[in-house]
Amino acid sequence: MNALGAKTLTTPADLADAGLVSAADLPAVTALSARYATAIPPNLVRLIATAGDAVARQFVPDKREFDSAPEERADPIGDHSHSPVKGLVHRYADRVLLMPTLACAVYCRFCFRRESVGAGALMQAELDAALDYIRATPAIWEVILTGGDPLVLSARRMGAIMDVLRDIAHVKIVRVHTRVPVALPERIDAALIDALKRSGKTVYVGIHCNHAAELTEDVVAACARLSDAGIPLLAQTVLLKGVNDTVADLENLFRALVAARVKPYYLHQLDYAPGTSHFRVPIAEGQALVTGLRGRVSGLAQPTYILDIPGGAGKVPVGAAYMSPEGDGGYIVRDPQGTAHAYPPRPGDDCSPV
Ligand SMILES: *Cc1c(COP(=O)(O)O)cnc(C)c1O
Ligand code: SF4
Repeated sequence: MNALGAKTLTTPADLADAGLVSAADLPAVTALSARYATAIPPNLVRLIATAGDAVARQFVPDKREFDSAPEERADPIGDHSHSPVKGLVHRYADRVLLMPTLACAVYCRFCFRRESVGAGALMQAELDAALDYIRATPAIWEVILTGGDPLVLSARRMGAIMDVLRDIAHVKIVRVHTRVPVALPERIDAALIDALKRSGKTVYVGIHCNHAAELTEDVVAACARLSDAGIPLLAQTVLLKGVNDTVADLENLFRALVAARVKPYYLHQLDYAPGTSHFRVPIAEGQALVTGLRGRVSGLAQPTYILDIPGGAGKVPVGAAYMSPEGDGGYIVRDPQGTAHAYPPRPGDDCSPV
């Protein structure tokens, strides 16, 4: 089979055959593959050939992953300490993460769960125990399927989970976080969509997408199938050096998502997962980027810039502060171009620049 054809690349030899890893880097990549799951499906192999670095960097193993910074940690956002049963994380009272599988369609080199992804699905008894926890916890209003990637499950297995959720009255919302529409758009077929809808709940799908090049015609069509089925779509983007760390990259991405009926939801500050420092954009730079977007792009195309506090204290918005208190009960507020204004306007001053 042609390496650029229909095959998912999973081994260092596959990557070398496809020309994605040089002979010189092969030993390092072989060592990395023993530690971190690797898979690049055909759709993304083809995209790497045409779109180049911004896509390749996200998925091709890189020897810089051996460099672990002291602030990096195996469980960066404290999933383990908030897991009452296997496959479930309950950090906020009203919502839980349910991880029916730790397999993904593609493995991102910056993944915050990179130390745990790659393993397979929960055993049936473990899944039943996680669903029992949801049933027994009336505060749970929303179930967020994540992993791993829940949309690698068969339509039959997804449908079985949705059938259980349908009968839990306190669950009103089901959210699915996935990279499958980007990685394996053909998987988003009628059977999988029917399975998602079997819960009878309001279903949202959050799509992980980091660069406008990922939104190929096939990917946009997969998004359209979900939207046409009445499923609202959100996007999660990770801010990544060399992938999307310019205002133009972010603007192109968010405009393309909105045009594909996908609402940009979060722009994530990269978590401190091991061996990811070559991807990290400093927060001050991230704030400057989102401020740059604010002045020139539709509100539809503005996600919230978000930090997951290391250790598990939760997510907080970290966009630039536009208001600063003045001490007299008033404020100085900066417009997107950076000009400061008094708020409330002072007598005779009518919110003119200060
Ligand atoms: C990110 C996360 C959520 C979802 O957070 P939202 O702000 O609702 O998108 C829920 N639970 C855990 C444990 C999380 O890490
Ligand atoms: S698809 Fe999501 S869970 Fe899977 S490797 Fe990428 S970031 Fe991690």
